[in-house]
Amino acid sequence: MLRGEVKGIPTERKIDRAVIDQMYEEGFLYAKYGAYARRTHGCKIFKVPMNAGFTCPNWDGRISKEGCIYCPDFARQFTYESFRCVISKDIRGQVVHQIDYYKKKGAGEKALVYVAFGTNTYAPVEDLRKIYDAALEHPDVIGLSIGTRPDCLPKEVLDLLAEYVKDGYEIWLEIGQQSPHYHTTESTYRGHGSAELLRVIRECHKRDILTMAFLIMGLPYETPSEMIETARIVSEAGTDALKLYPLLVMHNTRLSRDYRSGRYRPISMSEYASIIADFLEHLSPYVLIQRISKDCGLDGKIAPEWDTHRFLVGPRVEKILTLRGTKQGCKYKMGLSADELTPLKKASVIPEGL
Ligand code: SF4
Repeated sequence: MLRGEVKGIPTERKIDRAVIDQMYEEGFLYAKYGAYARRTHGCKIFKVPMNAGFTCPNWDGRISKEGCIYCPDFARQFTYESFRCVISKDIRGQVVHQIDYYKKKGAGEKALVYVAFGTNTYAPVEDLRKIYDAALEHPDVIGLSIGTRPDCLPKEVLDLLAEYVKDGYEIWLEIGQQSPHYHTTESTYRGHGSAELLRVIRECHKRDILTMAFLIMGLPYETPSEMIETARIVSEAGTDALKLYPLLVMHNTRLSRDYRSGRYRPISMSEYASIIADFLEHLSPYVLIQRISKDCGLDGKIAPEWDTHRFLVGPRVEKILTLRGTKQGCKYKMGLSADELTPLKKASVIPEGL
């Protein structure tokens, strides 16, 4: 299929709230991305990871040479089981191989190419165009999901992505924010703050590019109430979807030194499940949840000791929500409603009869 030709299924440009409302009516406790995508596309959509050889400005020296404190050596990121055999292939070869592999496993009918390793918008725009064009050539590909940092999306890159949207492709940006709290982005050496995320989401909305933020729970010195506030902040920022993870301690990271010296204590499974339940309650009901835990790329994990697979964590979170009788968005509230503006006590400063 040539680029620009309309794809065989409708592409998603905006999150359809009526579909999510229907899911809650059917008993969903949170807005699961996979179920939502099946309903809106009319078939199962799967994501195929692709490595286009990107590096990261927080690693190659442009911002820093150290990386974030939890970032493992780059080689360790190429550890997805299904991915080992395609590392040496070019982009087209990877996409063909991956789609074949996932289709044989019954993953679905149409694919989003997940440009997954490193910061996948950190290259000159014309190079990005060549890479994305090659990834989109396969007839089963309906779009791209591009992993990147919020500070690597200048206008020129967003405009390039908007061209693909106009051509009928579904374009997601998977933005590694991890936390909106300044003390956390500082202490984990992210090399950016939260303002970049706000800007990117606003600019993506103008261009019909969908946004998904990565967030980590259990970051050093971050309290449970700050994690709840994170849910409220990303809701109001307008992100379309989230991937939630517990903080993992990996080999050869600065975090692993803190862990070994006792300066960092990993979150337990019950703490994580309980925080995720709290988080979901305070999140907008219309933010899709793409991941609720981490279950791939785990080679080199030192801690936490518990199995972080989503098939274990997801049911635990749902059990907590069921026991509480709550669901996503039930505590999502921004200040007082109009009905609550009547003071409970008569204000003494307002004179009688005014
Ligand atoms: S932004 Fe991502 S790839 Fe870059 S150093 Fe941090 S964790 Fe590693």
